Amino acid sequence: MTTTHNLGFPRIGANRELKFALESYWRGESDAQALTTLAGGLRRRHWQQQRRLDLVPVGDFSLYDQVLDMSFTLGVVPERVAGQSGSELDSYFRLARGRASRDSGCHCVQAGEMTKWFDTNYHYIVPEFDADTAFSLNPDRLLRQLAEALESGVNAKPVIIGPVTYLHLGKCKDGSDPLALLPRLLPVYAQLLECLAAQGADWVQIDEPVLVTELDTAWQDAFRQAYAELAGARVQLLLTTYFGRLGDNLPLAAGLPVAGIHLDAVNAHAEVAALAAALPADRVLSLGVINGRNIWKTDLNATLDWLEPVARDLGERLWLAPSCSLLHVPVDLDIEDRLDPEVRSWLAFALQKLDELELLATALTEGRAAVQAQLKTNAEALAGRRRSSRVRNPAVRAAVGTIDADFGRRRSAYPQRAQLQADRLQLPPYPTTTIGSFPQTAEIRRARQQFRAGELAADAYQEAMQREIAHAVHEQEALGLDVLVHGEAERNDMVEYFGEQLDGFVFSRFGWVQSYGSRCVKPPILFGDISRPQPMTVDWTRYAQSLTDKPMKGMLTGPVTILNWSFVRDDQPRSESALQLALAIRQEVLDLEQAGVGIIQIDEAALREGLPLRRAEWTQYLDWAIEAFRICANGVRDETQIHTHMCYSQFNDIIEAIARMDADVITIETSRSDLQLLGAFDRFDYPNAIGPGVYDIHSPNIPGVEQMVQLIRSAAERIPAQRLWVNPDCGLKTRRWEEVIPALRNLVEAARTLRAPS
Ligand code: GLN
Ligand code: ZN
Repeated sequence: MTTTHNLGFPRIGANRELKFALESYWRGESDAQALTTLAGGLRRRHWQQQRRLDLVPVGDFSLYDQVLDMSFTLGVVPERVAGQSGSELDSYFRLARGRASRDSGCHCVQAGEMTKWFDTNYHYIVPEFDADTAFSLNPDRLLRQLAEALESGVNAKPVIIGPVTYLHLGKCKDGSDPLALLPRLLPVYAQLLECLAAQGADWVQIDEPVLVTELDTAWQDAFRQAYAELAGARVQLLLTTYFGRLGDNLPLAAGLPVAGIHLDAVNAHAEVAALAAALPADRVLSLGVINGRNIWKTDLNATLDWLEPVARDLGERLWLAPSCSLLHVPVDLDIEDRLDPEVRSWLAFALQKLDELELLATALTEGRAAVQAQLKTNAEALAGRRRSSRVRNPAVRAAVGTIDADFGRRRSAYPQRAQLQADRLQLPPYPTTTIGSFPQTAEIRRARQQFRAGELAADAYQEAMQREIAHAVHEQEALGLDVLVHGEAERNDMVEYFGEQLDGFVFSRFGWVQSYGSRCVKPPILFGDISRPQPMTVDWTRYAQSLTDKPMKGMLTGPVTILNWSFVRDDQPRSESALQLALAIRQEVLDLEQAGVGIIQIDEAALREGLPLRRAEWTQYLDWAIEAFRICANGVRDETQIHTHMCYSQFNDIIEAIARMDADVITIETSRSDLQLLGAFDRFDYPNAIGPGVYDIHSPNIPGVEQMVQLIRSAAERIPAQRLWVNPDCGLKTRRWEEVIPALRNLVEAARTLRAPS
C-alpha cells in the first residue's frame, strides 16, 4: 500500500470565487459573515475533490497568504496593526494590504512588504521581526479548519510552515539576526503541535522549502536545534521540501528526527536514491512525482519505470504526492471548453494531477495491469505530443541553427552609436519619456471585451483604439515630453498580447493562478516552437508616429519576460525556448526599424525573476537569458536606439550581466529605493544610458518637482549627466489620467529645472 497525499490545493476557486468574495468584502459590499461562509464552502469543496487521497491538506487554504496566516498563528503582528481597533480580520487585511490615507484624518497603515515565494510568481507577506519580537500562539484558524475537515470526513493533515523557513522568510527591521529568535519561537511551535495532536491530528506537514537553497552553517545548525526540540511532539512530522534539490543539505535533512521527508522528485529526481539510502529505516519517504509547477501530463509509464523498484525497496514507507503545493497551477482542465483539443489532450491541471497520482498509486499496489487502459491513453497522449507538427516546426529549428555570434552584437560600440543617435534624435539633455502604457480606462476595457465577444466589429475596435492612441499622443505633446509612446491601449497584458499573436502558444479561459491576495494571472501556455506569422505592433506604432513630429518609441516585451511569465515546455530546456522567442521578437524589432521607428523599447520586466534558487546556478541562467535579449535586440543599425525596462531596483548582484545586454538606455524602478540604486553604481561603472524612475507609479501620490530633481541630482553623482533620462518607474496603466497628468507635468518641469544653467 502506497500512501497518497497532497501538499496544498489552489484556494482561489475554479471560478475565482475567493477573489470576487474578497474584493466585494473590501469594497464594503458584503460582510465578514459572507466571506467566511464562502471560504468555508470552498474548503469543503476542495476536500471533497481530494478525498480519494489518503491524506488531505488542511490549513493550506488562506484568505490572503499562507505566510501571513502563519504570522498570525505565531502572534507576529506589527505594532502599527495590532494597536488598531477592529476585528482580527480587519487587522489581517490591514497588514496584507495597508490602509491608504484617503483623507488626512485617516489612520493609515503601511502594508507588510510583499515578496516572491521562492522562484514562483506567488507573493507572500514578509514577516517583520526585531530583536525583541515575542511569539504567542493563536491556533484558532488552524484548529477550526481541522475540525471542519474532520467533520467533512477526510483524513486531515494540517500544514504549517516550519520554524526555520519561517524565520528565513522574515526580515529583522532593526538589522538583528533572525536566528537569535529561534529559542523563543520553538516553544510556540511545540504548543501548536500539541494543540493539533489534542484535536486529533496524526500527521502534520511542516514545510521547510528553504532546504533547497544554499544554507550556511548557522542555518543548518538551526535545523538540528529546531527539530531536536520538536521531536517530542505527539504528532508525526512530515518535513516537506520542494522546488529543487537538497544538494549539500541532503545529509542534514535525512538526519533530522522527523517521521518522514518529502522530496521534489521532479526537480530533484537525481537525489531519490541517495535520500532513500540516507534515511533511517523507520522513516517515510514522500516523493513528489507529479509536477506541481506546470500544466503538462505526467509520463506515467516512465515514472513507473523508475518508481517501481523504489516502491519495492521502501514498501509502506513510500508516499506519493505532487512535487509541491498545487497552488501554482489552475484548478480544473475539464471546464476549459474552448481550448484547442489537440493541445488540451497533453495537459493536466490540479484535479487531473490528482487523478494521475491515484493512478500511479494503484499501479504500484495492484500492478500496471489494473490500470492498463489509462496508462495506454496516457502513453498515446504523450506520443501524440511528441509527434505533433505543431510542437516541432522545422523552419524554426533551422532558423535557430543559423544563429551565430554576430546576431547578438551591435555594429559599433556604445559611444559611436550614442553619437549617431544623438544626431538623429536631437533630444535635449535629461530627455523625458514614459515606460509605455497610459491608463487602461473602463472604456478601453469595455471595448476590448466587446470586441472579444464579437459585439464590436474589428474596424470599430481599431477606431476606438486609435482614438485612445491619439488622445495619449496629444496629452504627451501638451505635457512637453520628449520621447512619446502610443500608450498600449490595445494590450490587455504585456505578455498575453504577444503570446496571442505568436504561433506556439495557447490560452486557457479559466487557467487562473494566484499571484497575491485576490490577484490572479492566467499564464499563456507555451507548447510548441515559436514563430511570428506577421508583424504584431507595427501598424499601431506607425499610426501613433503619424500624429506627431516627436520621436515615437516602439514597444515590445522581451523573450525572457515572455518565458518567465508563461507555462513553458518541459520537453526542451528553457534556454531553447528563449532563443526561439528571441528570433520572433527580433523580426518585430527589425520590422519596426524598417518602418522608420528610431527608438525601440524591449521590456524585460521579469528578467530577475528567472534567477535560480541556488546562486551557483545564476551565471548559467544569466548567460542564456542575456544572450536571448541580445539576439532579439541587437540586430539593428547604430542609429536605432534600443531601450529596455526592468521593474525592480535590486541590481547589485546582476549589474554586470545587465550591462552585457548593451541596451542604449535602461529604465528601472528606483523611486522607492534610491539608495539601493546608488549602491549598485558605486561598485560598477554602468557604461550606457539610464533612466532611474523618479515617479513611483505604484502610489497614488503626485511626486513633487523638487523631489524628482533631487533624485536625478544624486544619480548624477554616479552617472554622467549626459547619460541620464527622466521617466516614471513603470507603466501607467493602473493609474488614472487625473493622477498621471499632474505627475508628468512635474516630471517635465523637473527635467527643465535640471537643464537650466545653475
Ligand atoms: N511597457 C509596459 C507598460 O508600460 C511595461 C510594464 C512593466 O514593466 N511591467 O505597461
Ligand atoms: Zn515596470
